[in-house]
Amino acid sequence: MGSQRDYFYPNTEQLAADEMRVTALGTGRPFVRRGQANCSWLIELGNGDKFVMDFGSGSQANFTALEIPHQDVTAYFATHLHADHVGDFAQVWIGSWAGGRVKPLVLYGPSGPEPKYGTEHFVRKQMESLVWDTETRLGLLPDAGAEVEVHEFDFTRIGVVYDRNGVVLKSFPAIHIYDGPVSYRLEWNGLTFVFSGDTTPSQFFVDNAQGADLLIHECFNTVKQLIERSGYPEKSAIGIGTMAHTSPEECGKVLALVKPRQAVVYHFFNDFDTAPEIERDIRKSYDGPLALAQDLMVFNVTKDRITTRLAVTPTLVWPNKERHDEFRAATRAKKPTMSRWLADKQLFPKF
Ligand SMILES: [Zn+2]
Ligand SMILES: [Zn+2]
Repeated sequence: MGSQRDYFYPNTEQLAADEMRVTALGTGRPFVRRGQANCSWLIELGNGDKFVMDFGSGSQANFTALEIPHQDVTAYFATHLHADHVGDFAQVWIGSWAGGRVKPLVLYGPSGPEPKYGTEHFVRKQMESLVWDTETRLGLLPDAGAEVEVHEFDFTRIGVVYDRNGVVLKSFPAIHIYDGPVSYRLEWNGLTFVFSGDTTPSQFFVDNAQGADLLIHECFNTVKQLIERSGYPEKSAIGIGTMAHTSPEECGKVLALVKPRQAVVYHFFNDFDTAPEIERDIRKSYDGPLALAQDLMVFNVTKDRITTRLAVTPTLVWPNKERHDEFRAATRAKKPTMSRWLADKQLFPKF
C-alpha cells in the first residue's frame, strides 16, 4: 500500500465478526451543498446490525450510494430535532419504503421539556402531514413499510436506551440551545463508539466518552470564517459558533480530555481553505489521531487497528437490487379510489 491512497468500494469486502465500520453520510452545516449533506452517520457492526444516527437533509443520497438494502437498517437514532439532523425523515420513511423495506421503521429519539418538543410528536406530525403521500402508495407498496415504531426516551437521563443483540446504546444530555438534545455512546463487542450530535463542550460528554475507540464530536467553522465568508454579524457568529456549537479551539480541549483512539470532527464546511485554520485551532490542545470528516469517509474499527478511507460510490443507483422475493410477496392493502369523473377521462382506461 505504501503512500497510495486507500479507497473503500462498498459491497466488495466482508465486515469481520469483530469489526465496526462507521461511514459519514452527512458532515456539513444546516445548508445542504452537493459536496456535504446535513448530519448523518452509519454504524455497521460485525453481528449484522446497522444503525443510522441522525438523518439530516440530503444525507439519504449518501446512504443509497452505498447500496445497502433499507431492510437491513436495524434502527435510526436522532440526537435532536433540528432539520439538519432529522430533515430527511420523509426519505428515511417513504424512500426506504418505496426502496424495498417490508418491516416497520424503527426510530429512537429524545423527549423534550413538553410533549410538543419530543421525537414522538415530531414523527407523528410528519406522518400526518404526509397522509396524501402514504395513503396513495397503499396497495402498491407493502403495508408493513408504512408503519413507524417510535421509541421516545427521557432526554434528562443518563442511561441505556437500547440493549439488544449484544449492542448497548446509552444516551446522555447534550447542551445545545434548549432542553432536549442528547449524545450517544454505543458499546459492542468491547468496542466503544461515541457520537456528540450538536453540543457545546460539556462535562456530560467528557464523562460519558471515556474509553472511546471512535469518537465523533461536532465542531463548527471558526467565528472569523462565519463573519468573513457568510456575512454574519459578529454577535451572531459568536452565538452560533461558540454558544450553540463547539468552536475548533474548544473542540481540541474536549478531545484532549477524552483522548479517544481516533477522533473525528464534523459539522463545518470542510474546504481546502477552511480546514487548515480549524485543524490549527484543534491542535492547540489535542495531538492525538484526528480526522476532519468529509461525506463518505469510512472508518473501520477493530481492537487492533483503525483505518480511515474514502468511499468510492456510484451515483445512479437502483434500490433493492436483490431482495425481490420478499418485496413481491409482502401484503398490499387496497388503495384509495379516485372520483369517477376523474377516472372516466382516462385515454386508455385501466380502472
Ligand atoms: Zn442543532
Ligand atoms: Zn446541527
